[in-house]
Amino acid sequence: MDRNTLIQNLKDYQTSGWDIIVIGGGATGLGVALDAVTRGYKTILLEQSDFAKATSSRSTKLVHGGVRYLAQGDILLVTEALRERGIMLKNAPHLTANQEFVIPVYTYWDVFLYTVGLKFYDLLAGRLSLGKSYFLNRTRTLSRLPLLKPEGLKGGIVYHDGQFDDSRMAITLALACVEKGGTVLNYFKVNSFIKDEKGKITGVRAKDIESGTEYTIQGKLVINATGVFADQIHRMDDPLTRQSIRPSQGVHVVLDSSFLQSSSAIMIPKTDDGRVLFAIPWYGKVVVGTTDTPLNDITLEPKALDEEIDFILRTAGRYLTKSPGREDVNCIFAGLRPLAANPDKPEATKEVSRRHKISLSPSGLLSIIGGKWTSYRRMAEETIDRAIKSGIIERKKCVTANFSFYSDNKKLKSERLKIYGTKAGEIEKMIIEQPPLGELIDKRLPYTLAEIIWICRNEIPCSLEDVLARRTRALFLDARASREAGPVVAEIMAKELGYGKEWQYRQIADYNRLMDNYL
Ligand SMILES: Cc1cc2nc3c(=O)[nH]c(=O)nc-3n(C[C@H](O)[C@H](O)[C@H](O)COP(=O)(O)OP(=O)(O)OC[C@H]3O[C@@H](n4cnc5c(N)ncnc54)[C@H](O)[C@@H]3O)c2cc1C
Repeated sequence: MDRNTLIQNLKDYQTSGWDIIVIGGGATGLGVALDAVTRGYKTILLEQSDFAKATSSRSTKLVHGGVRYLAQGDILLVTEALRERGIMLKNAPHLTANQEFVIPVYTYWDVFLYTVGLKFYDLLAGRLSLGKSYFLNRTRTLSRLPLLKPEGLKGGIVYHDGQFDDSRMAITLALACVEKGGTVLNYFKVNSFIKDEKGKITGVRAKDIESGTEYTIQGKLVINATGVFADQIHRMDDPLTRQSIRPSQGVHVVLDSSFLQSSSAIMIPKTDDGRVLFAIPWYGKVVVGTTDTPLNDITLEPKALDEEIDFILRTAGRYLTKSPGREDVNCIFAGLRPLAANPDKPEATKEVSRRHKISLSPSGLLSIIGGKWTSYRRMAEETIDRAIKSGIIERKKCVTANFSFYSDNKKLKSERLKIYGTKAGEIEKMIIEQPPLGELIDKRLPYTLAEIIWICRNEIPCSLEDVLARRTRALFLDARASREAGPVVAEIMAKELGYGKEWQYRQIADYNRLMDNYL
């Protein structure tokens, strides 16, 4: 991807217009854009910040049917998600993994309940099952999870789900869109709609945040895929729109792997206040979370509440022999769930359905809200199908179920580089040709200088944060180490992107300020 070329595409289509304009560059918007591009529609996506800056880089990183939704009786949601889980693992094997989970059980009733429940989960997955669930006795559970507290433990139920790298998946979707002829632009904020004399939307006005230039972009169809921000876009269309989103904050903390010492994840199905808590190995660390806190404030940088951090650490400490404290936390991250709310029926957020909603406004704005990362492809397919059904665009067939993001990278020396998919070999070649580029950006982080150069040349990062938080996951793995790597990375970026010292220092200062939210 090259940002200048993408902006030139935007200018080239200024008069002829686009078939589809997508607002929002998270999982939903990128999924919709890829679905549209691969069906053959002229498509542009506009993201006000970086791709996956909001909720889509702050998930639990599970590609799952949702054991919890099964307990809530939402069988259709679980069945759909399990099918999508299978498709995502097949199409993006370089960014996903089959993860084993153990549910520790403390009563014989729970042994029965979770064994039966997970057998049903296996059954719903059918051919796409990632492995059968089964009961482990106490001794075997403790050998699988050596740091699990043994008191009162009856055993564990093993089951399988998928795991992934959320923001790398988002960047991969963006790259695939461009490769297939689409245009995706980060740091492009949509500020208003253009309407014809009948009040129908015919395009948007958007601002390139990097240059300050304003653009008028015409299109047959505008899709609102802005997650928790969806109501702001609805109000641009009709100031009297009722609230349709009920944001709920979820927090995770990232700990050193010594707190789990296992390749199996732990799933606690019911904490003190009825939530689910996971402790999942991820890139050599452990991600622990999450919470479910209703909030009214919608922002790109949500901040964990003290009580949320305390709850996660306290609950983890109840199950683990090595109890984590605040000083052990490598990173704290918070995300906002775009739950589709029913304004007539206020409910506790953990009971609100995770199902997505598609709606078409009288002016022709098509909105897709709610849902989950796992189901992004299916949500995208339904959204474009809805536009076809409404007669806005001509019929074309969806092809994403068999769209592979990956080609064989067997020849790679470094297994870790496979996250770059088909391009991983290019990074390895850079290191072979110039061995100093194989040095790490910080000894506590796995990323090399070559990766930073390659990212700058191919993945349109505009800020230091884009590289450290979403192109690499340095911020999430170890926020302090990422802060210390900041100057090295900013220097490479300035050189690659053609900026001076002043830009470099500003990036470092902005990044250091951001750390308040993650430490
Ligand atoms: C704590 C937590 C854990 C989760 N865990 C999982 C999980 O393990 N597995 C799973 O499947 N799902 C999970 N989810 C759900 C999943 O992360 C979300 O459903 C998904 O990321 C939502 O994507 P989105 O694109 O709809 O929203 P977002 O990622 O928020 O994207 C919306 C984008 O729209 C942009 N935007 C807003 N206004 C404008 C504008 N005016 N112009 C241009 N752009 C604009 C925003 O900047 C933003 O980037 C989790 C969610 C949370 C909060």
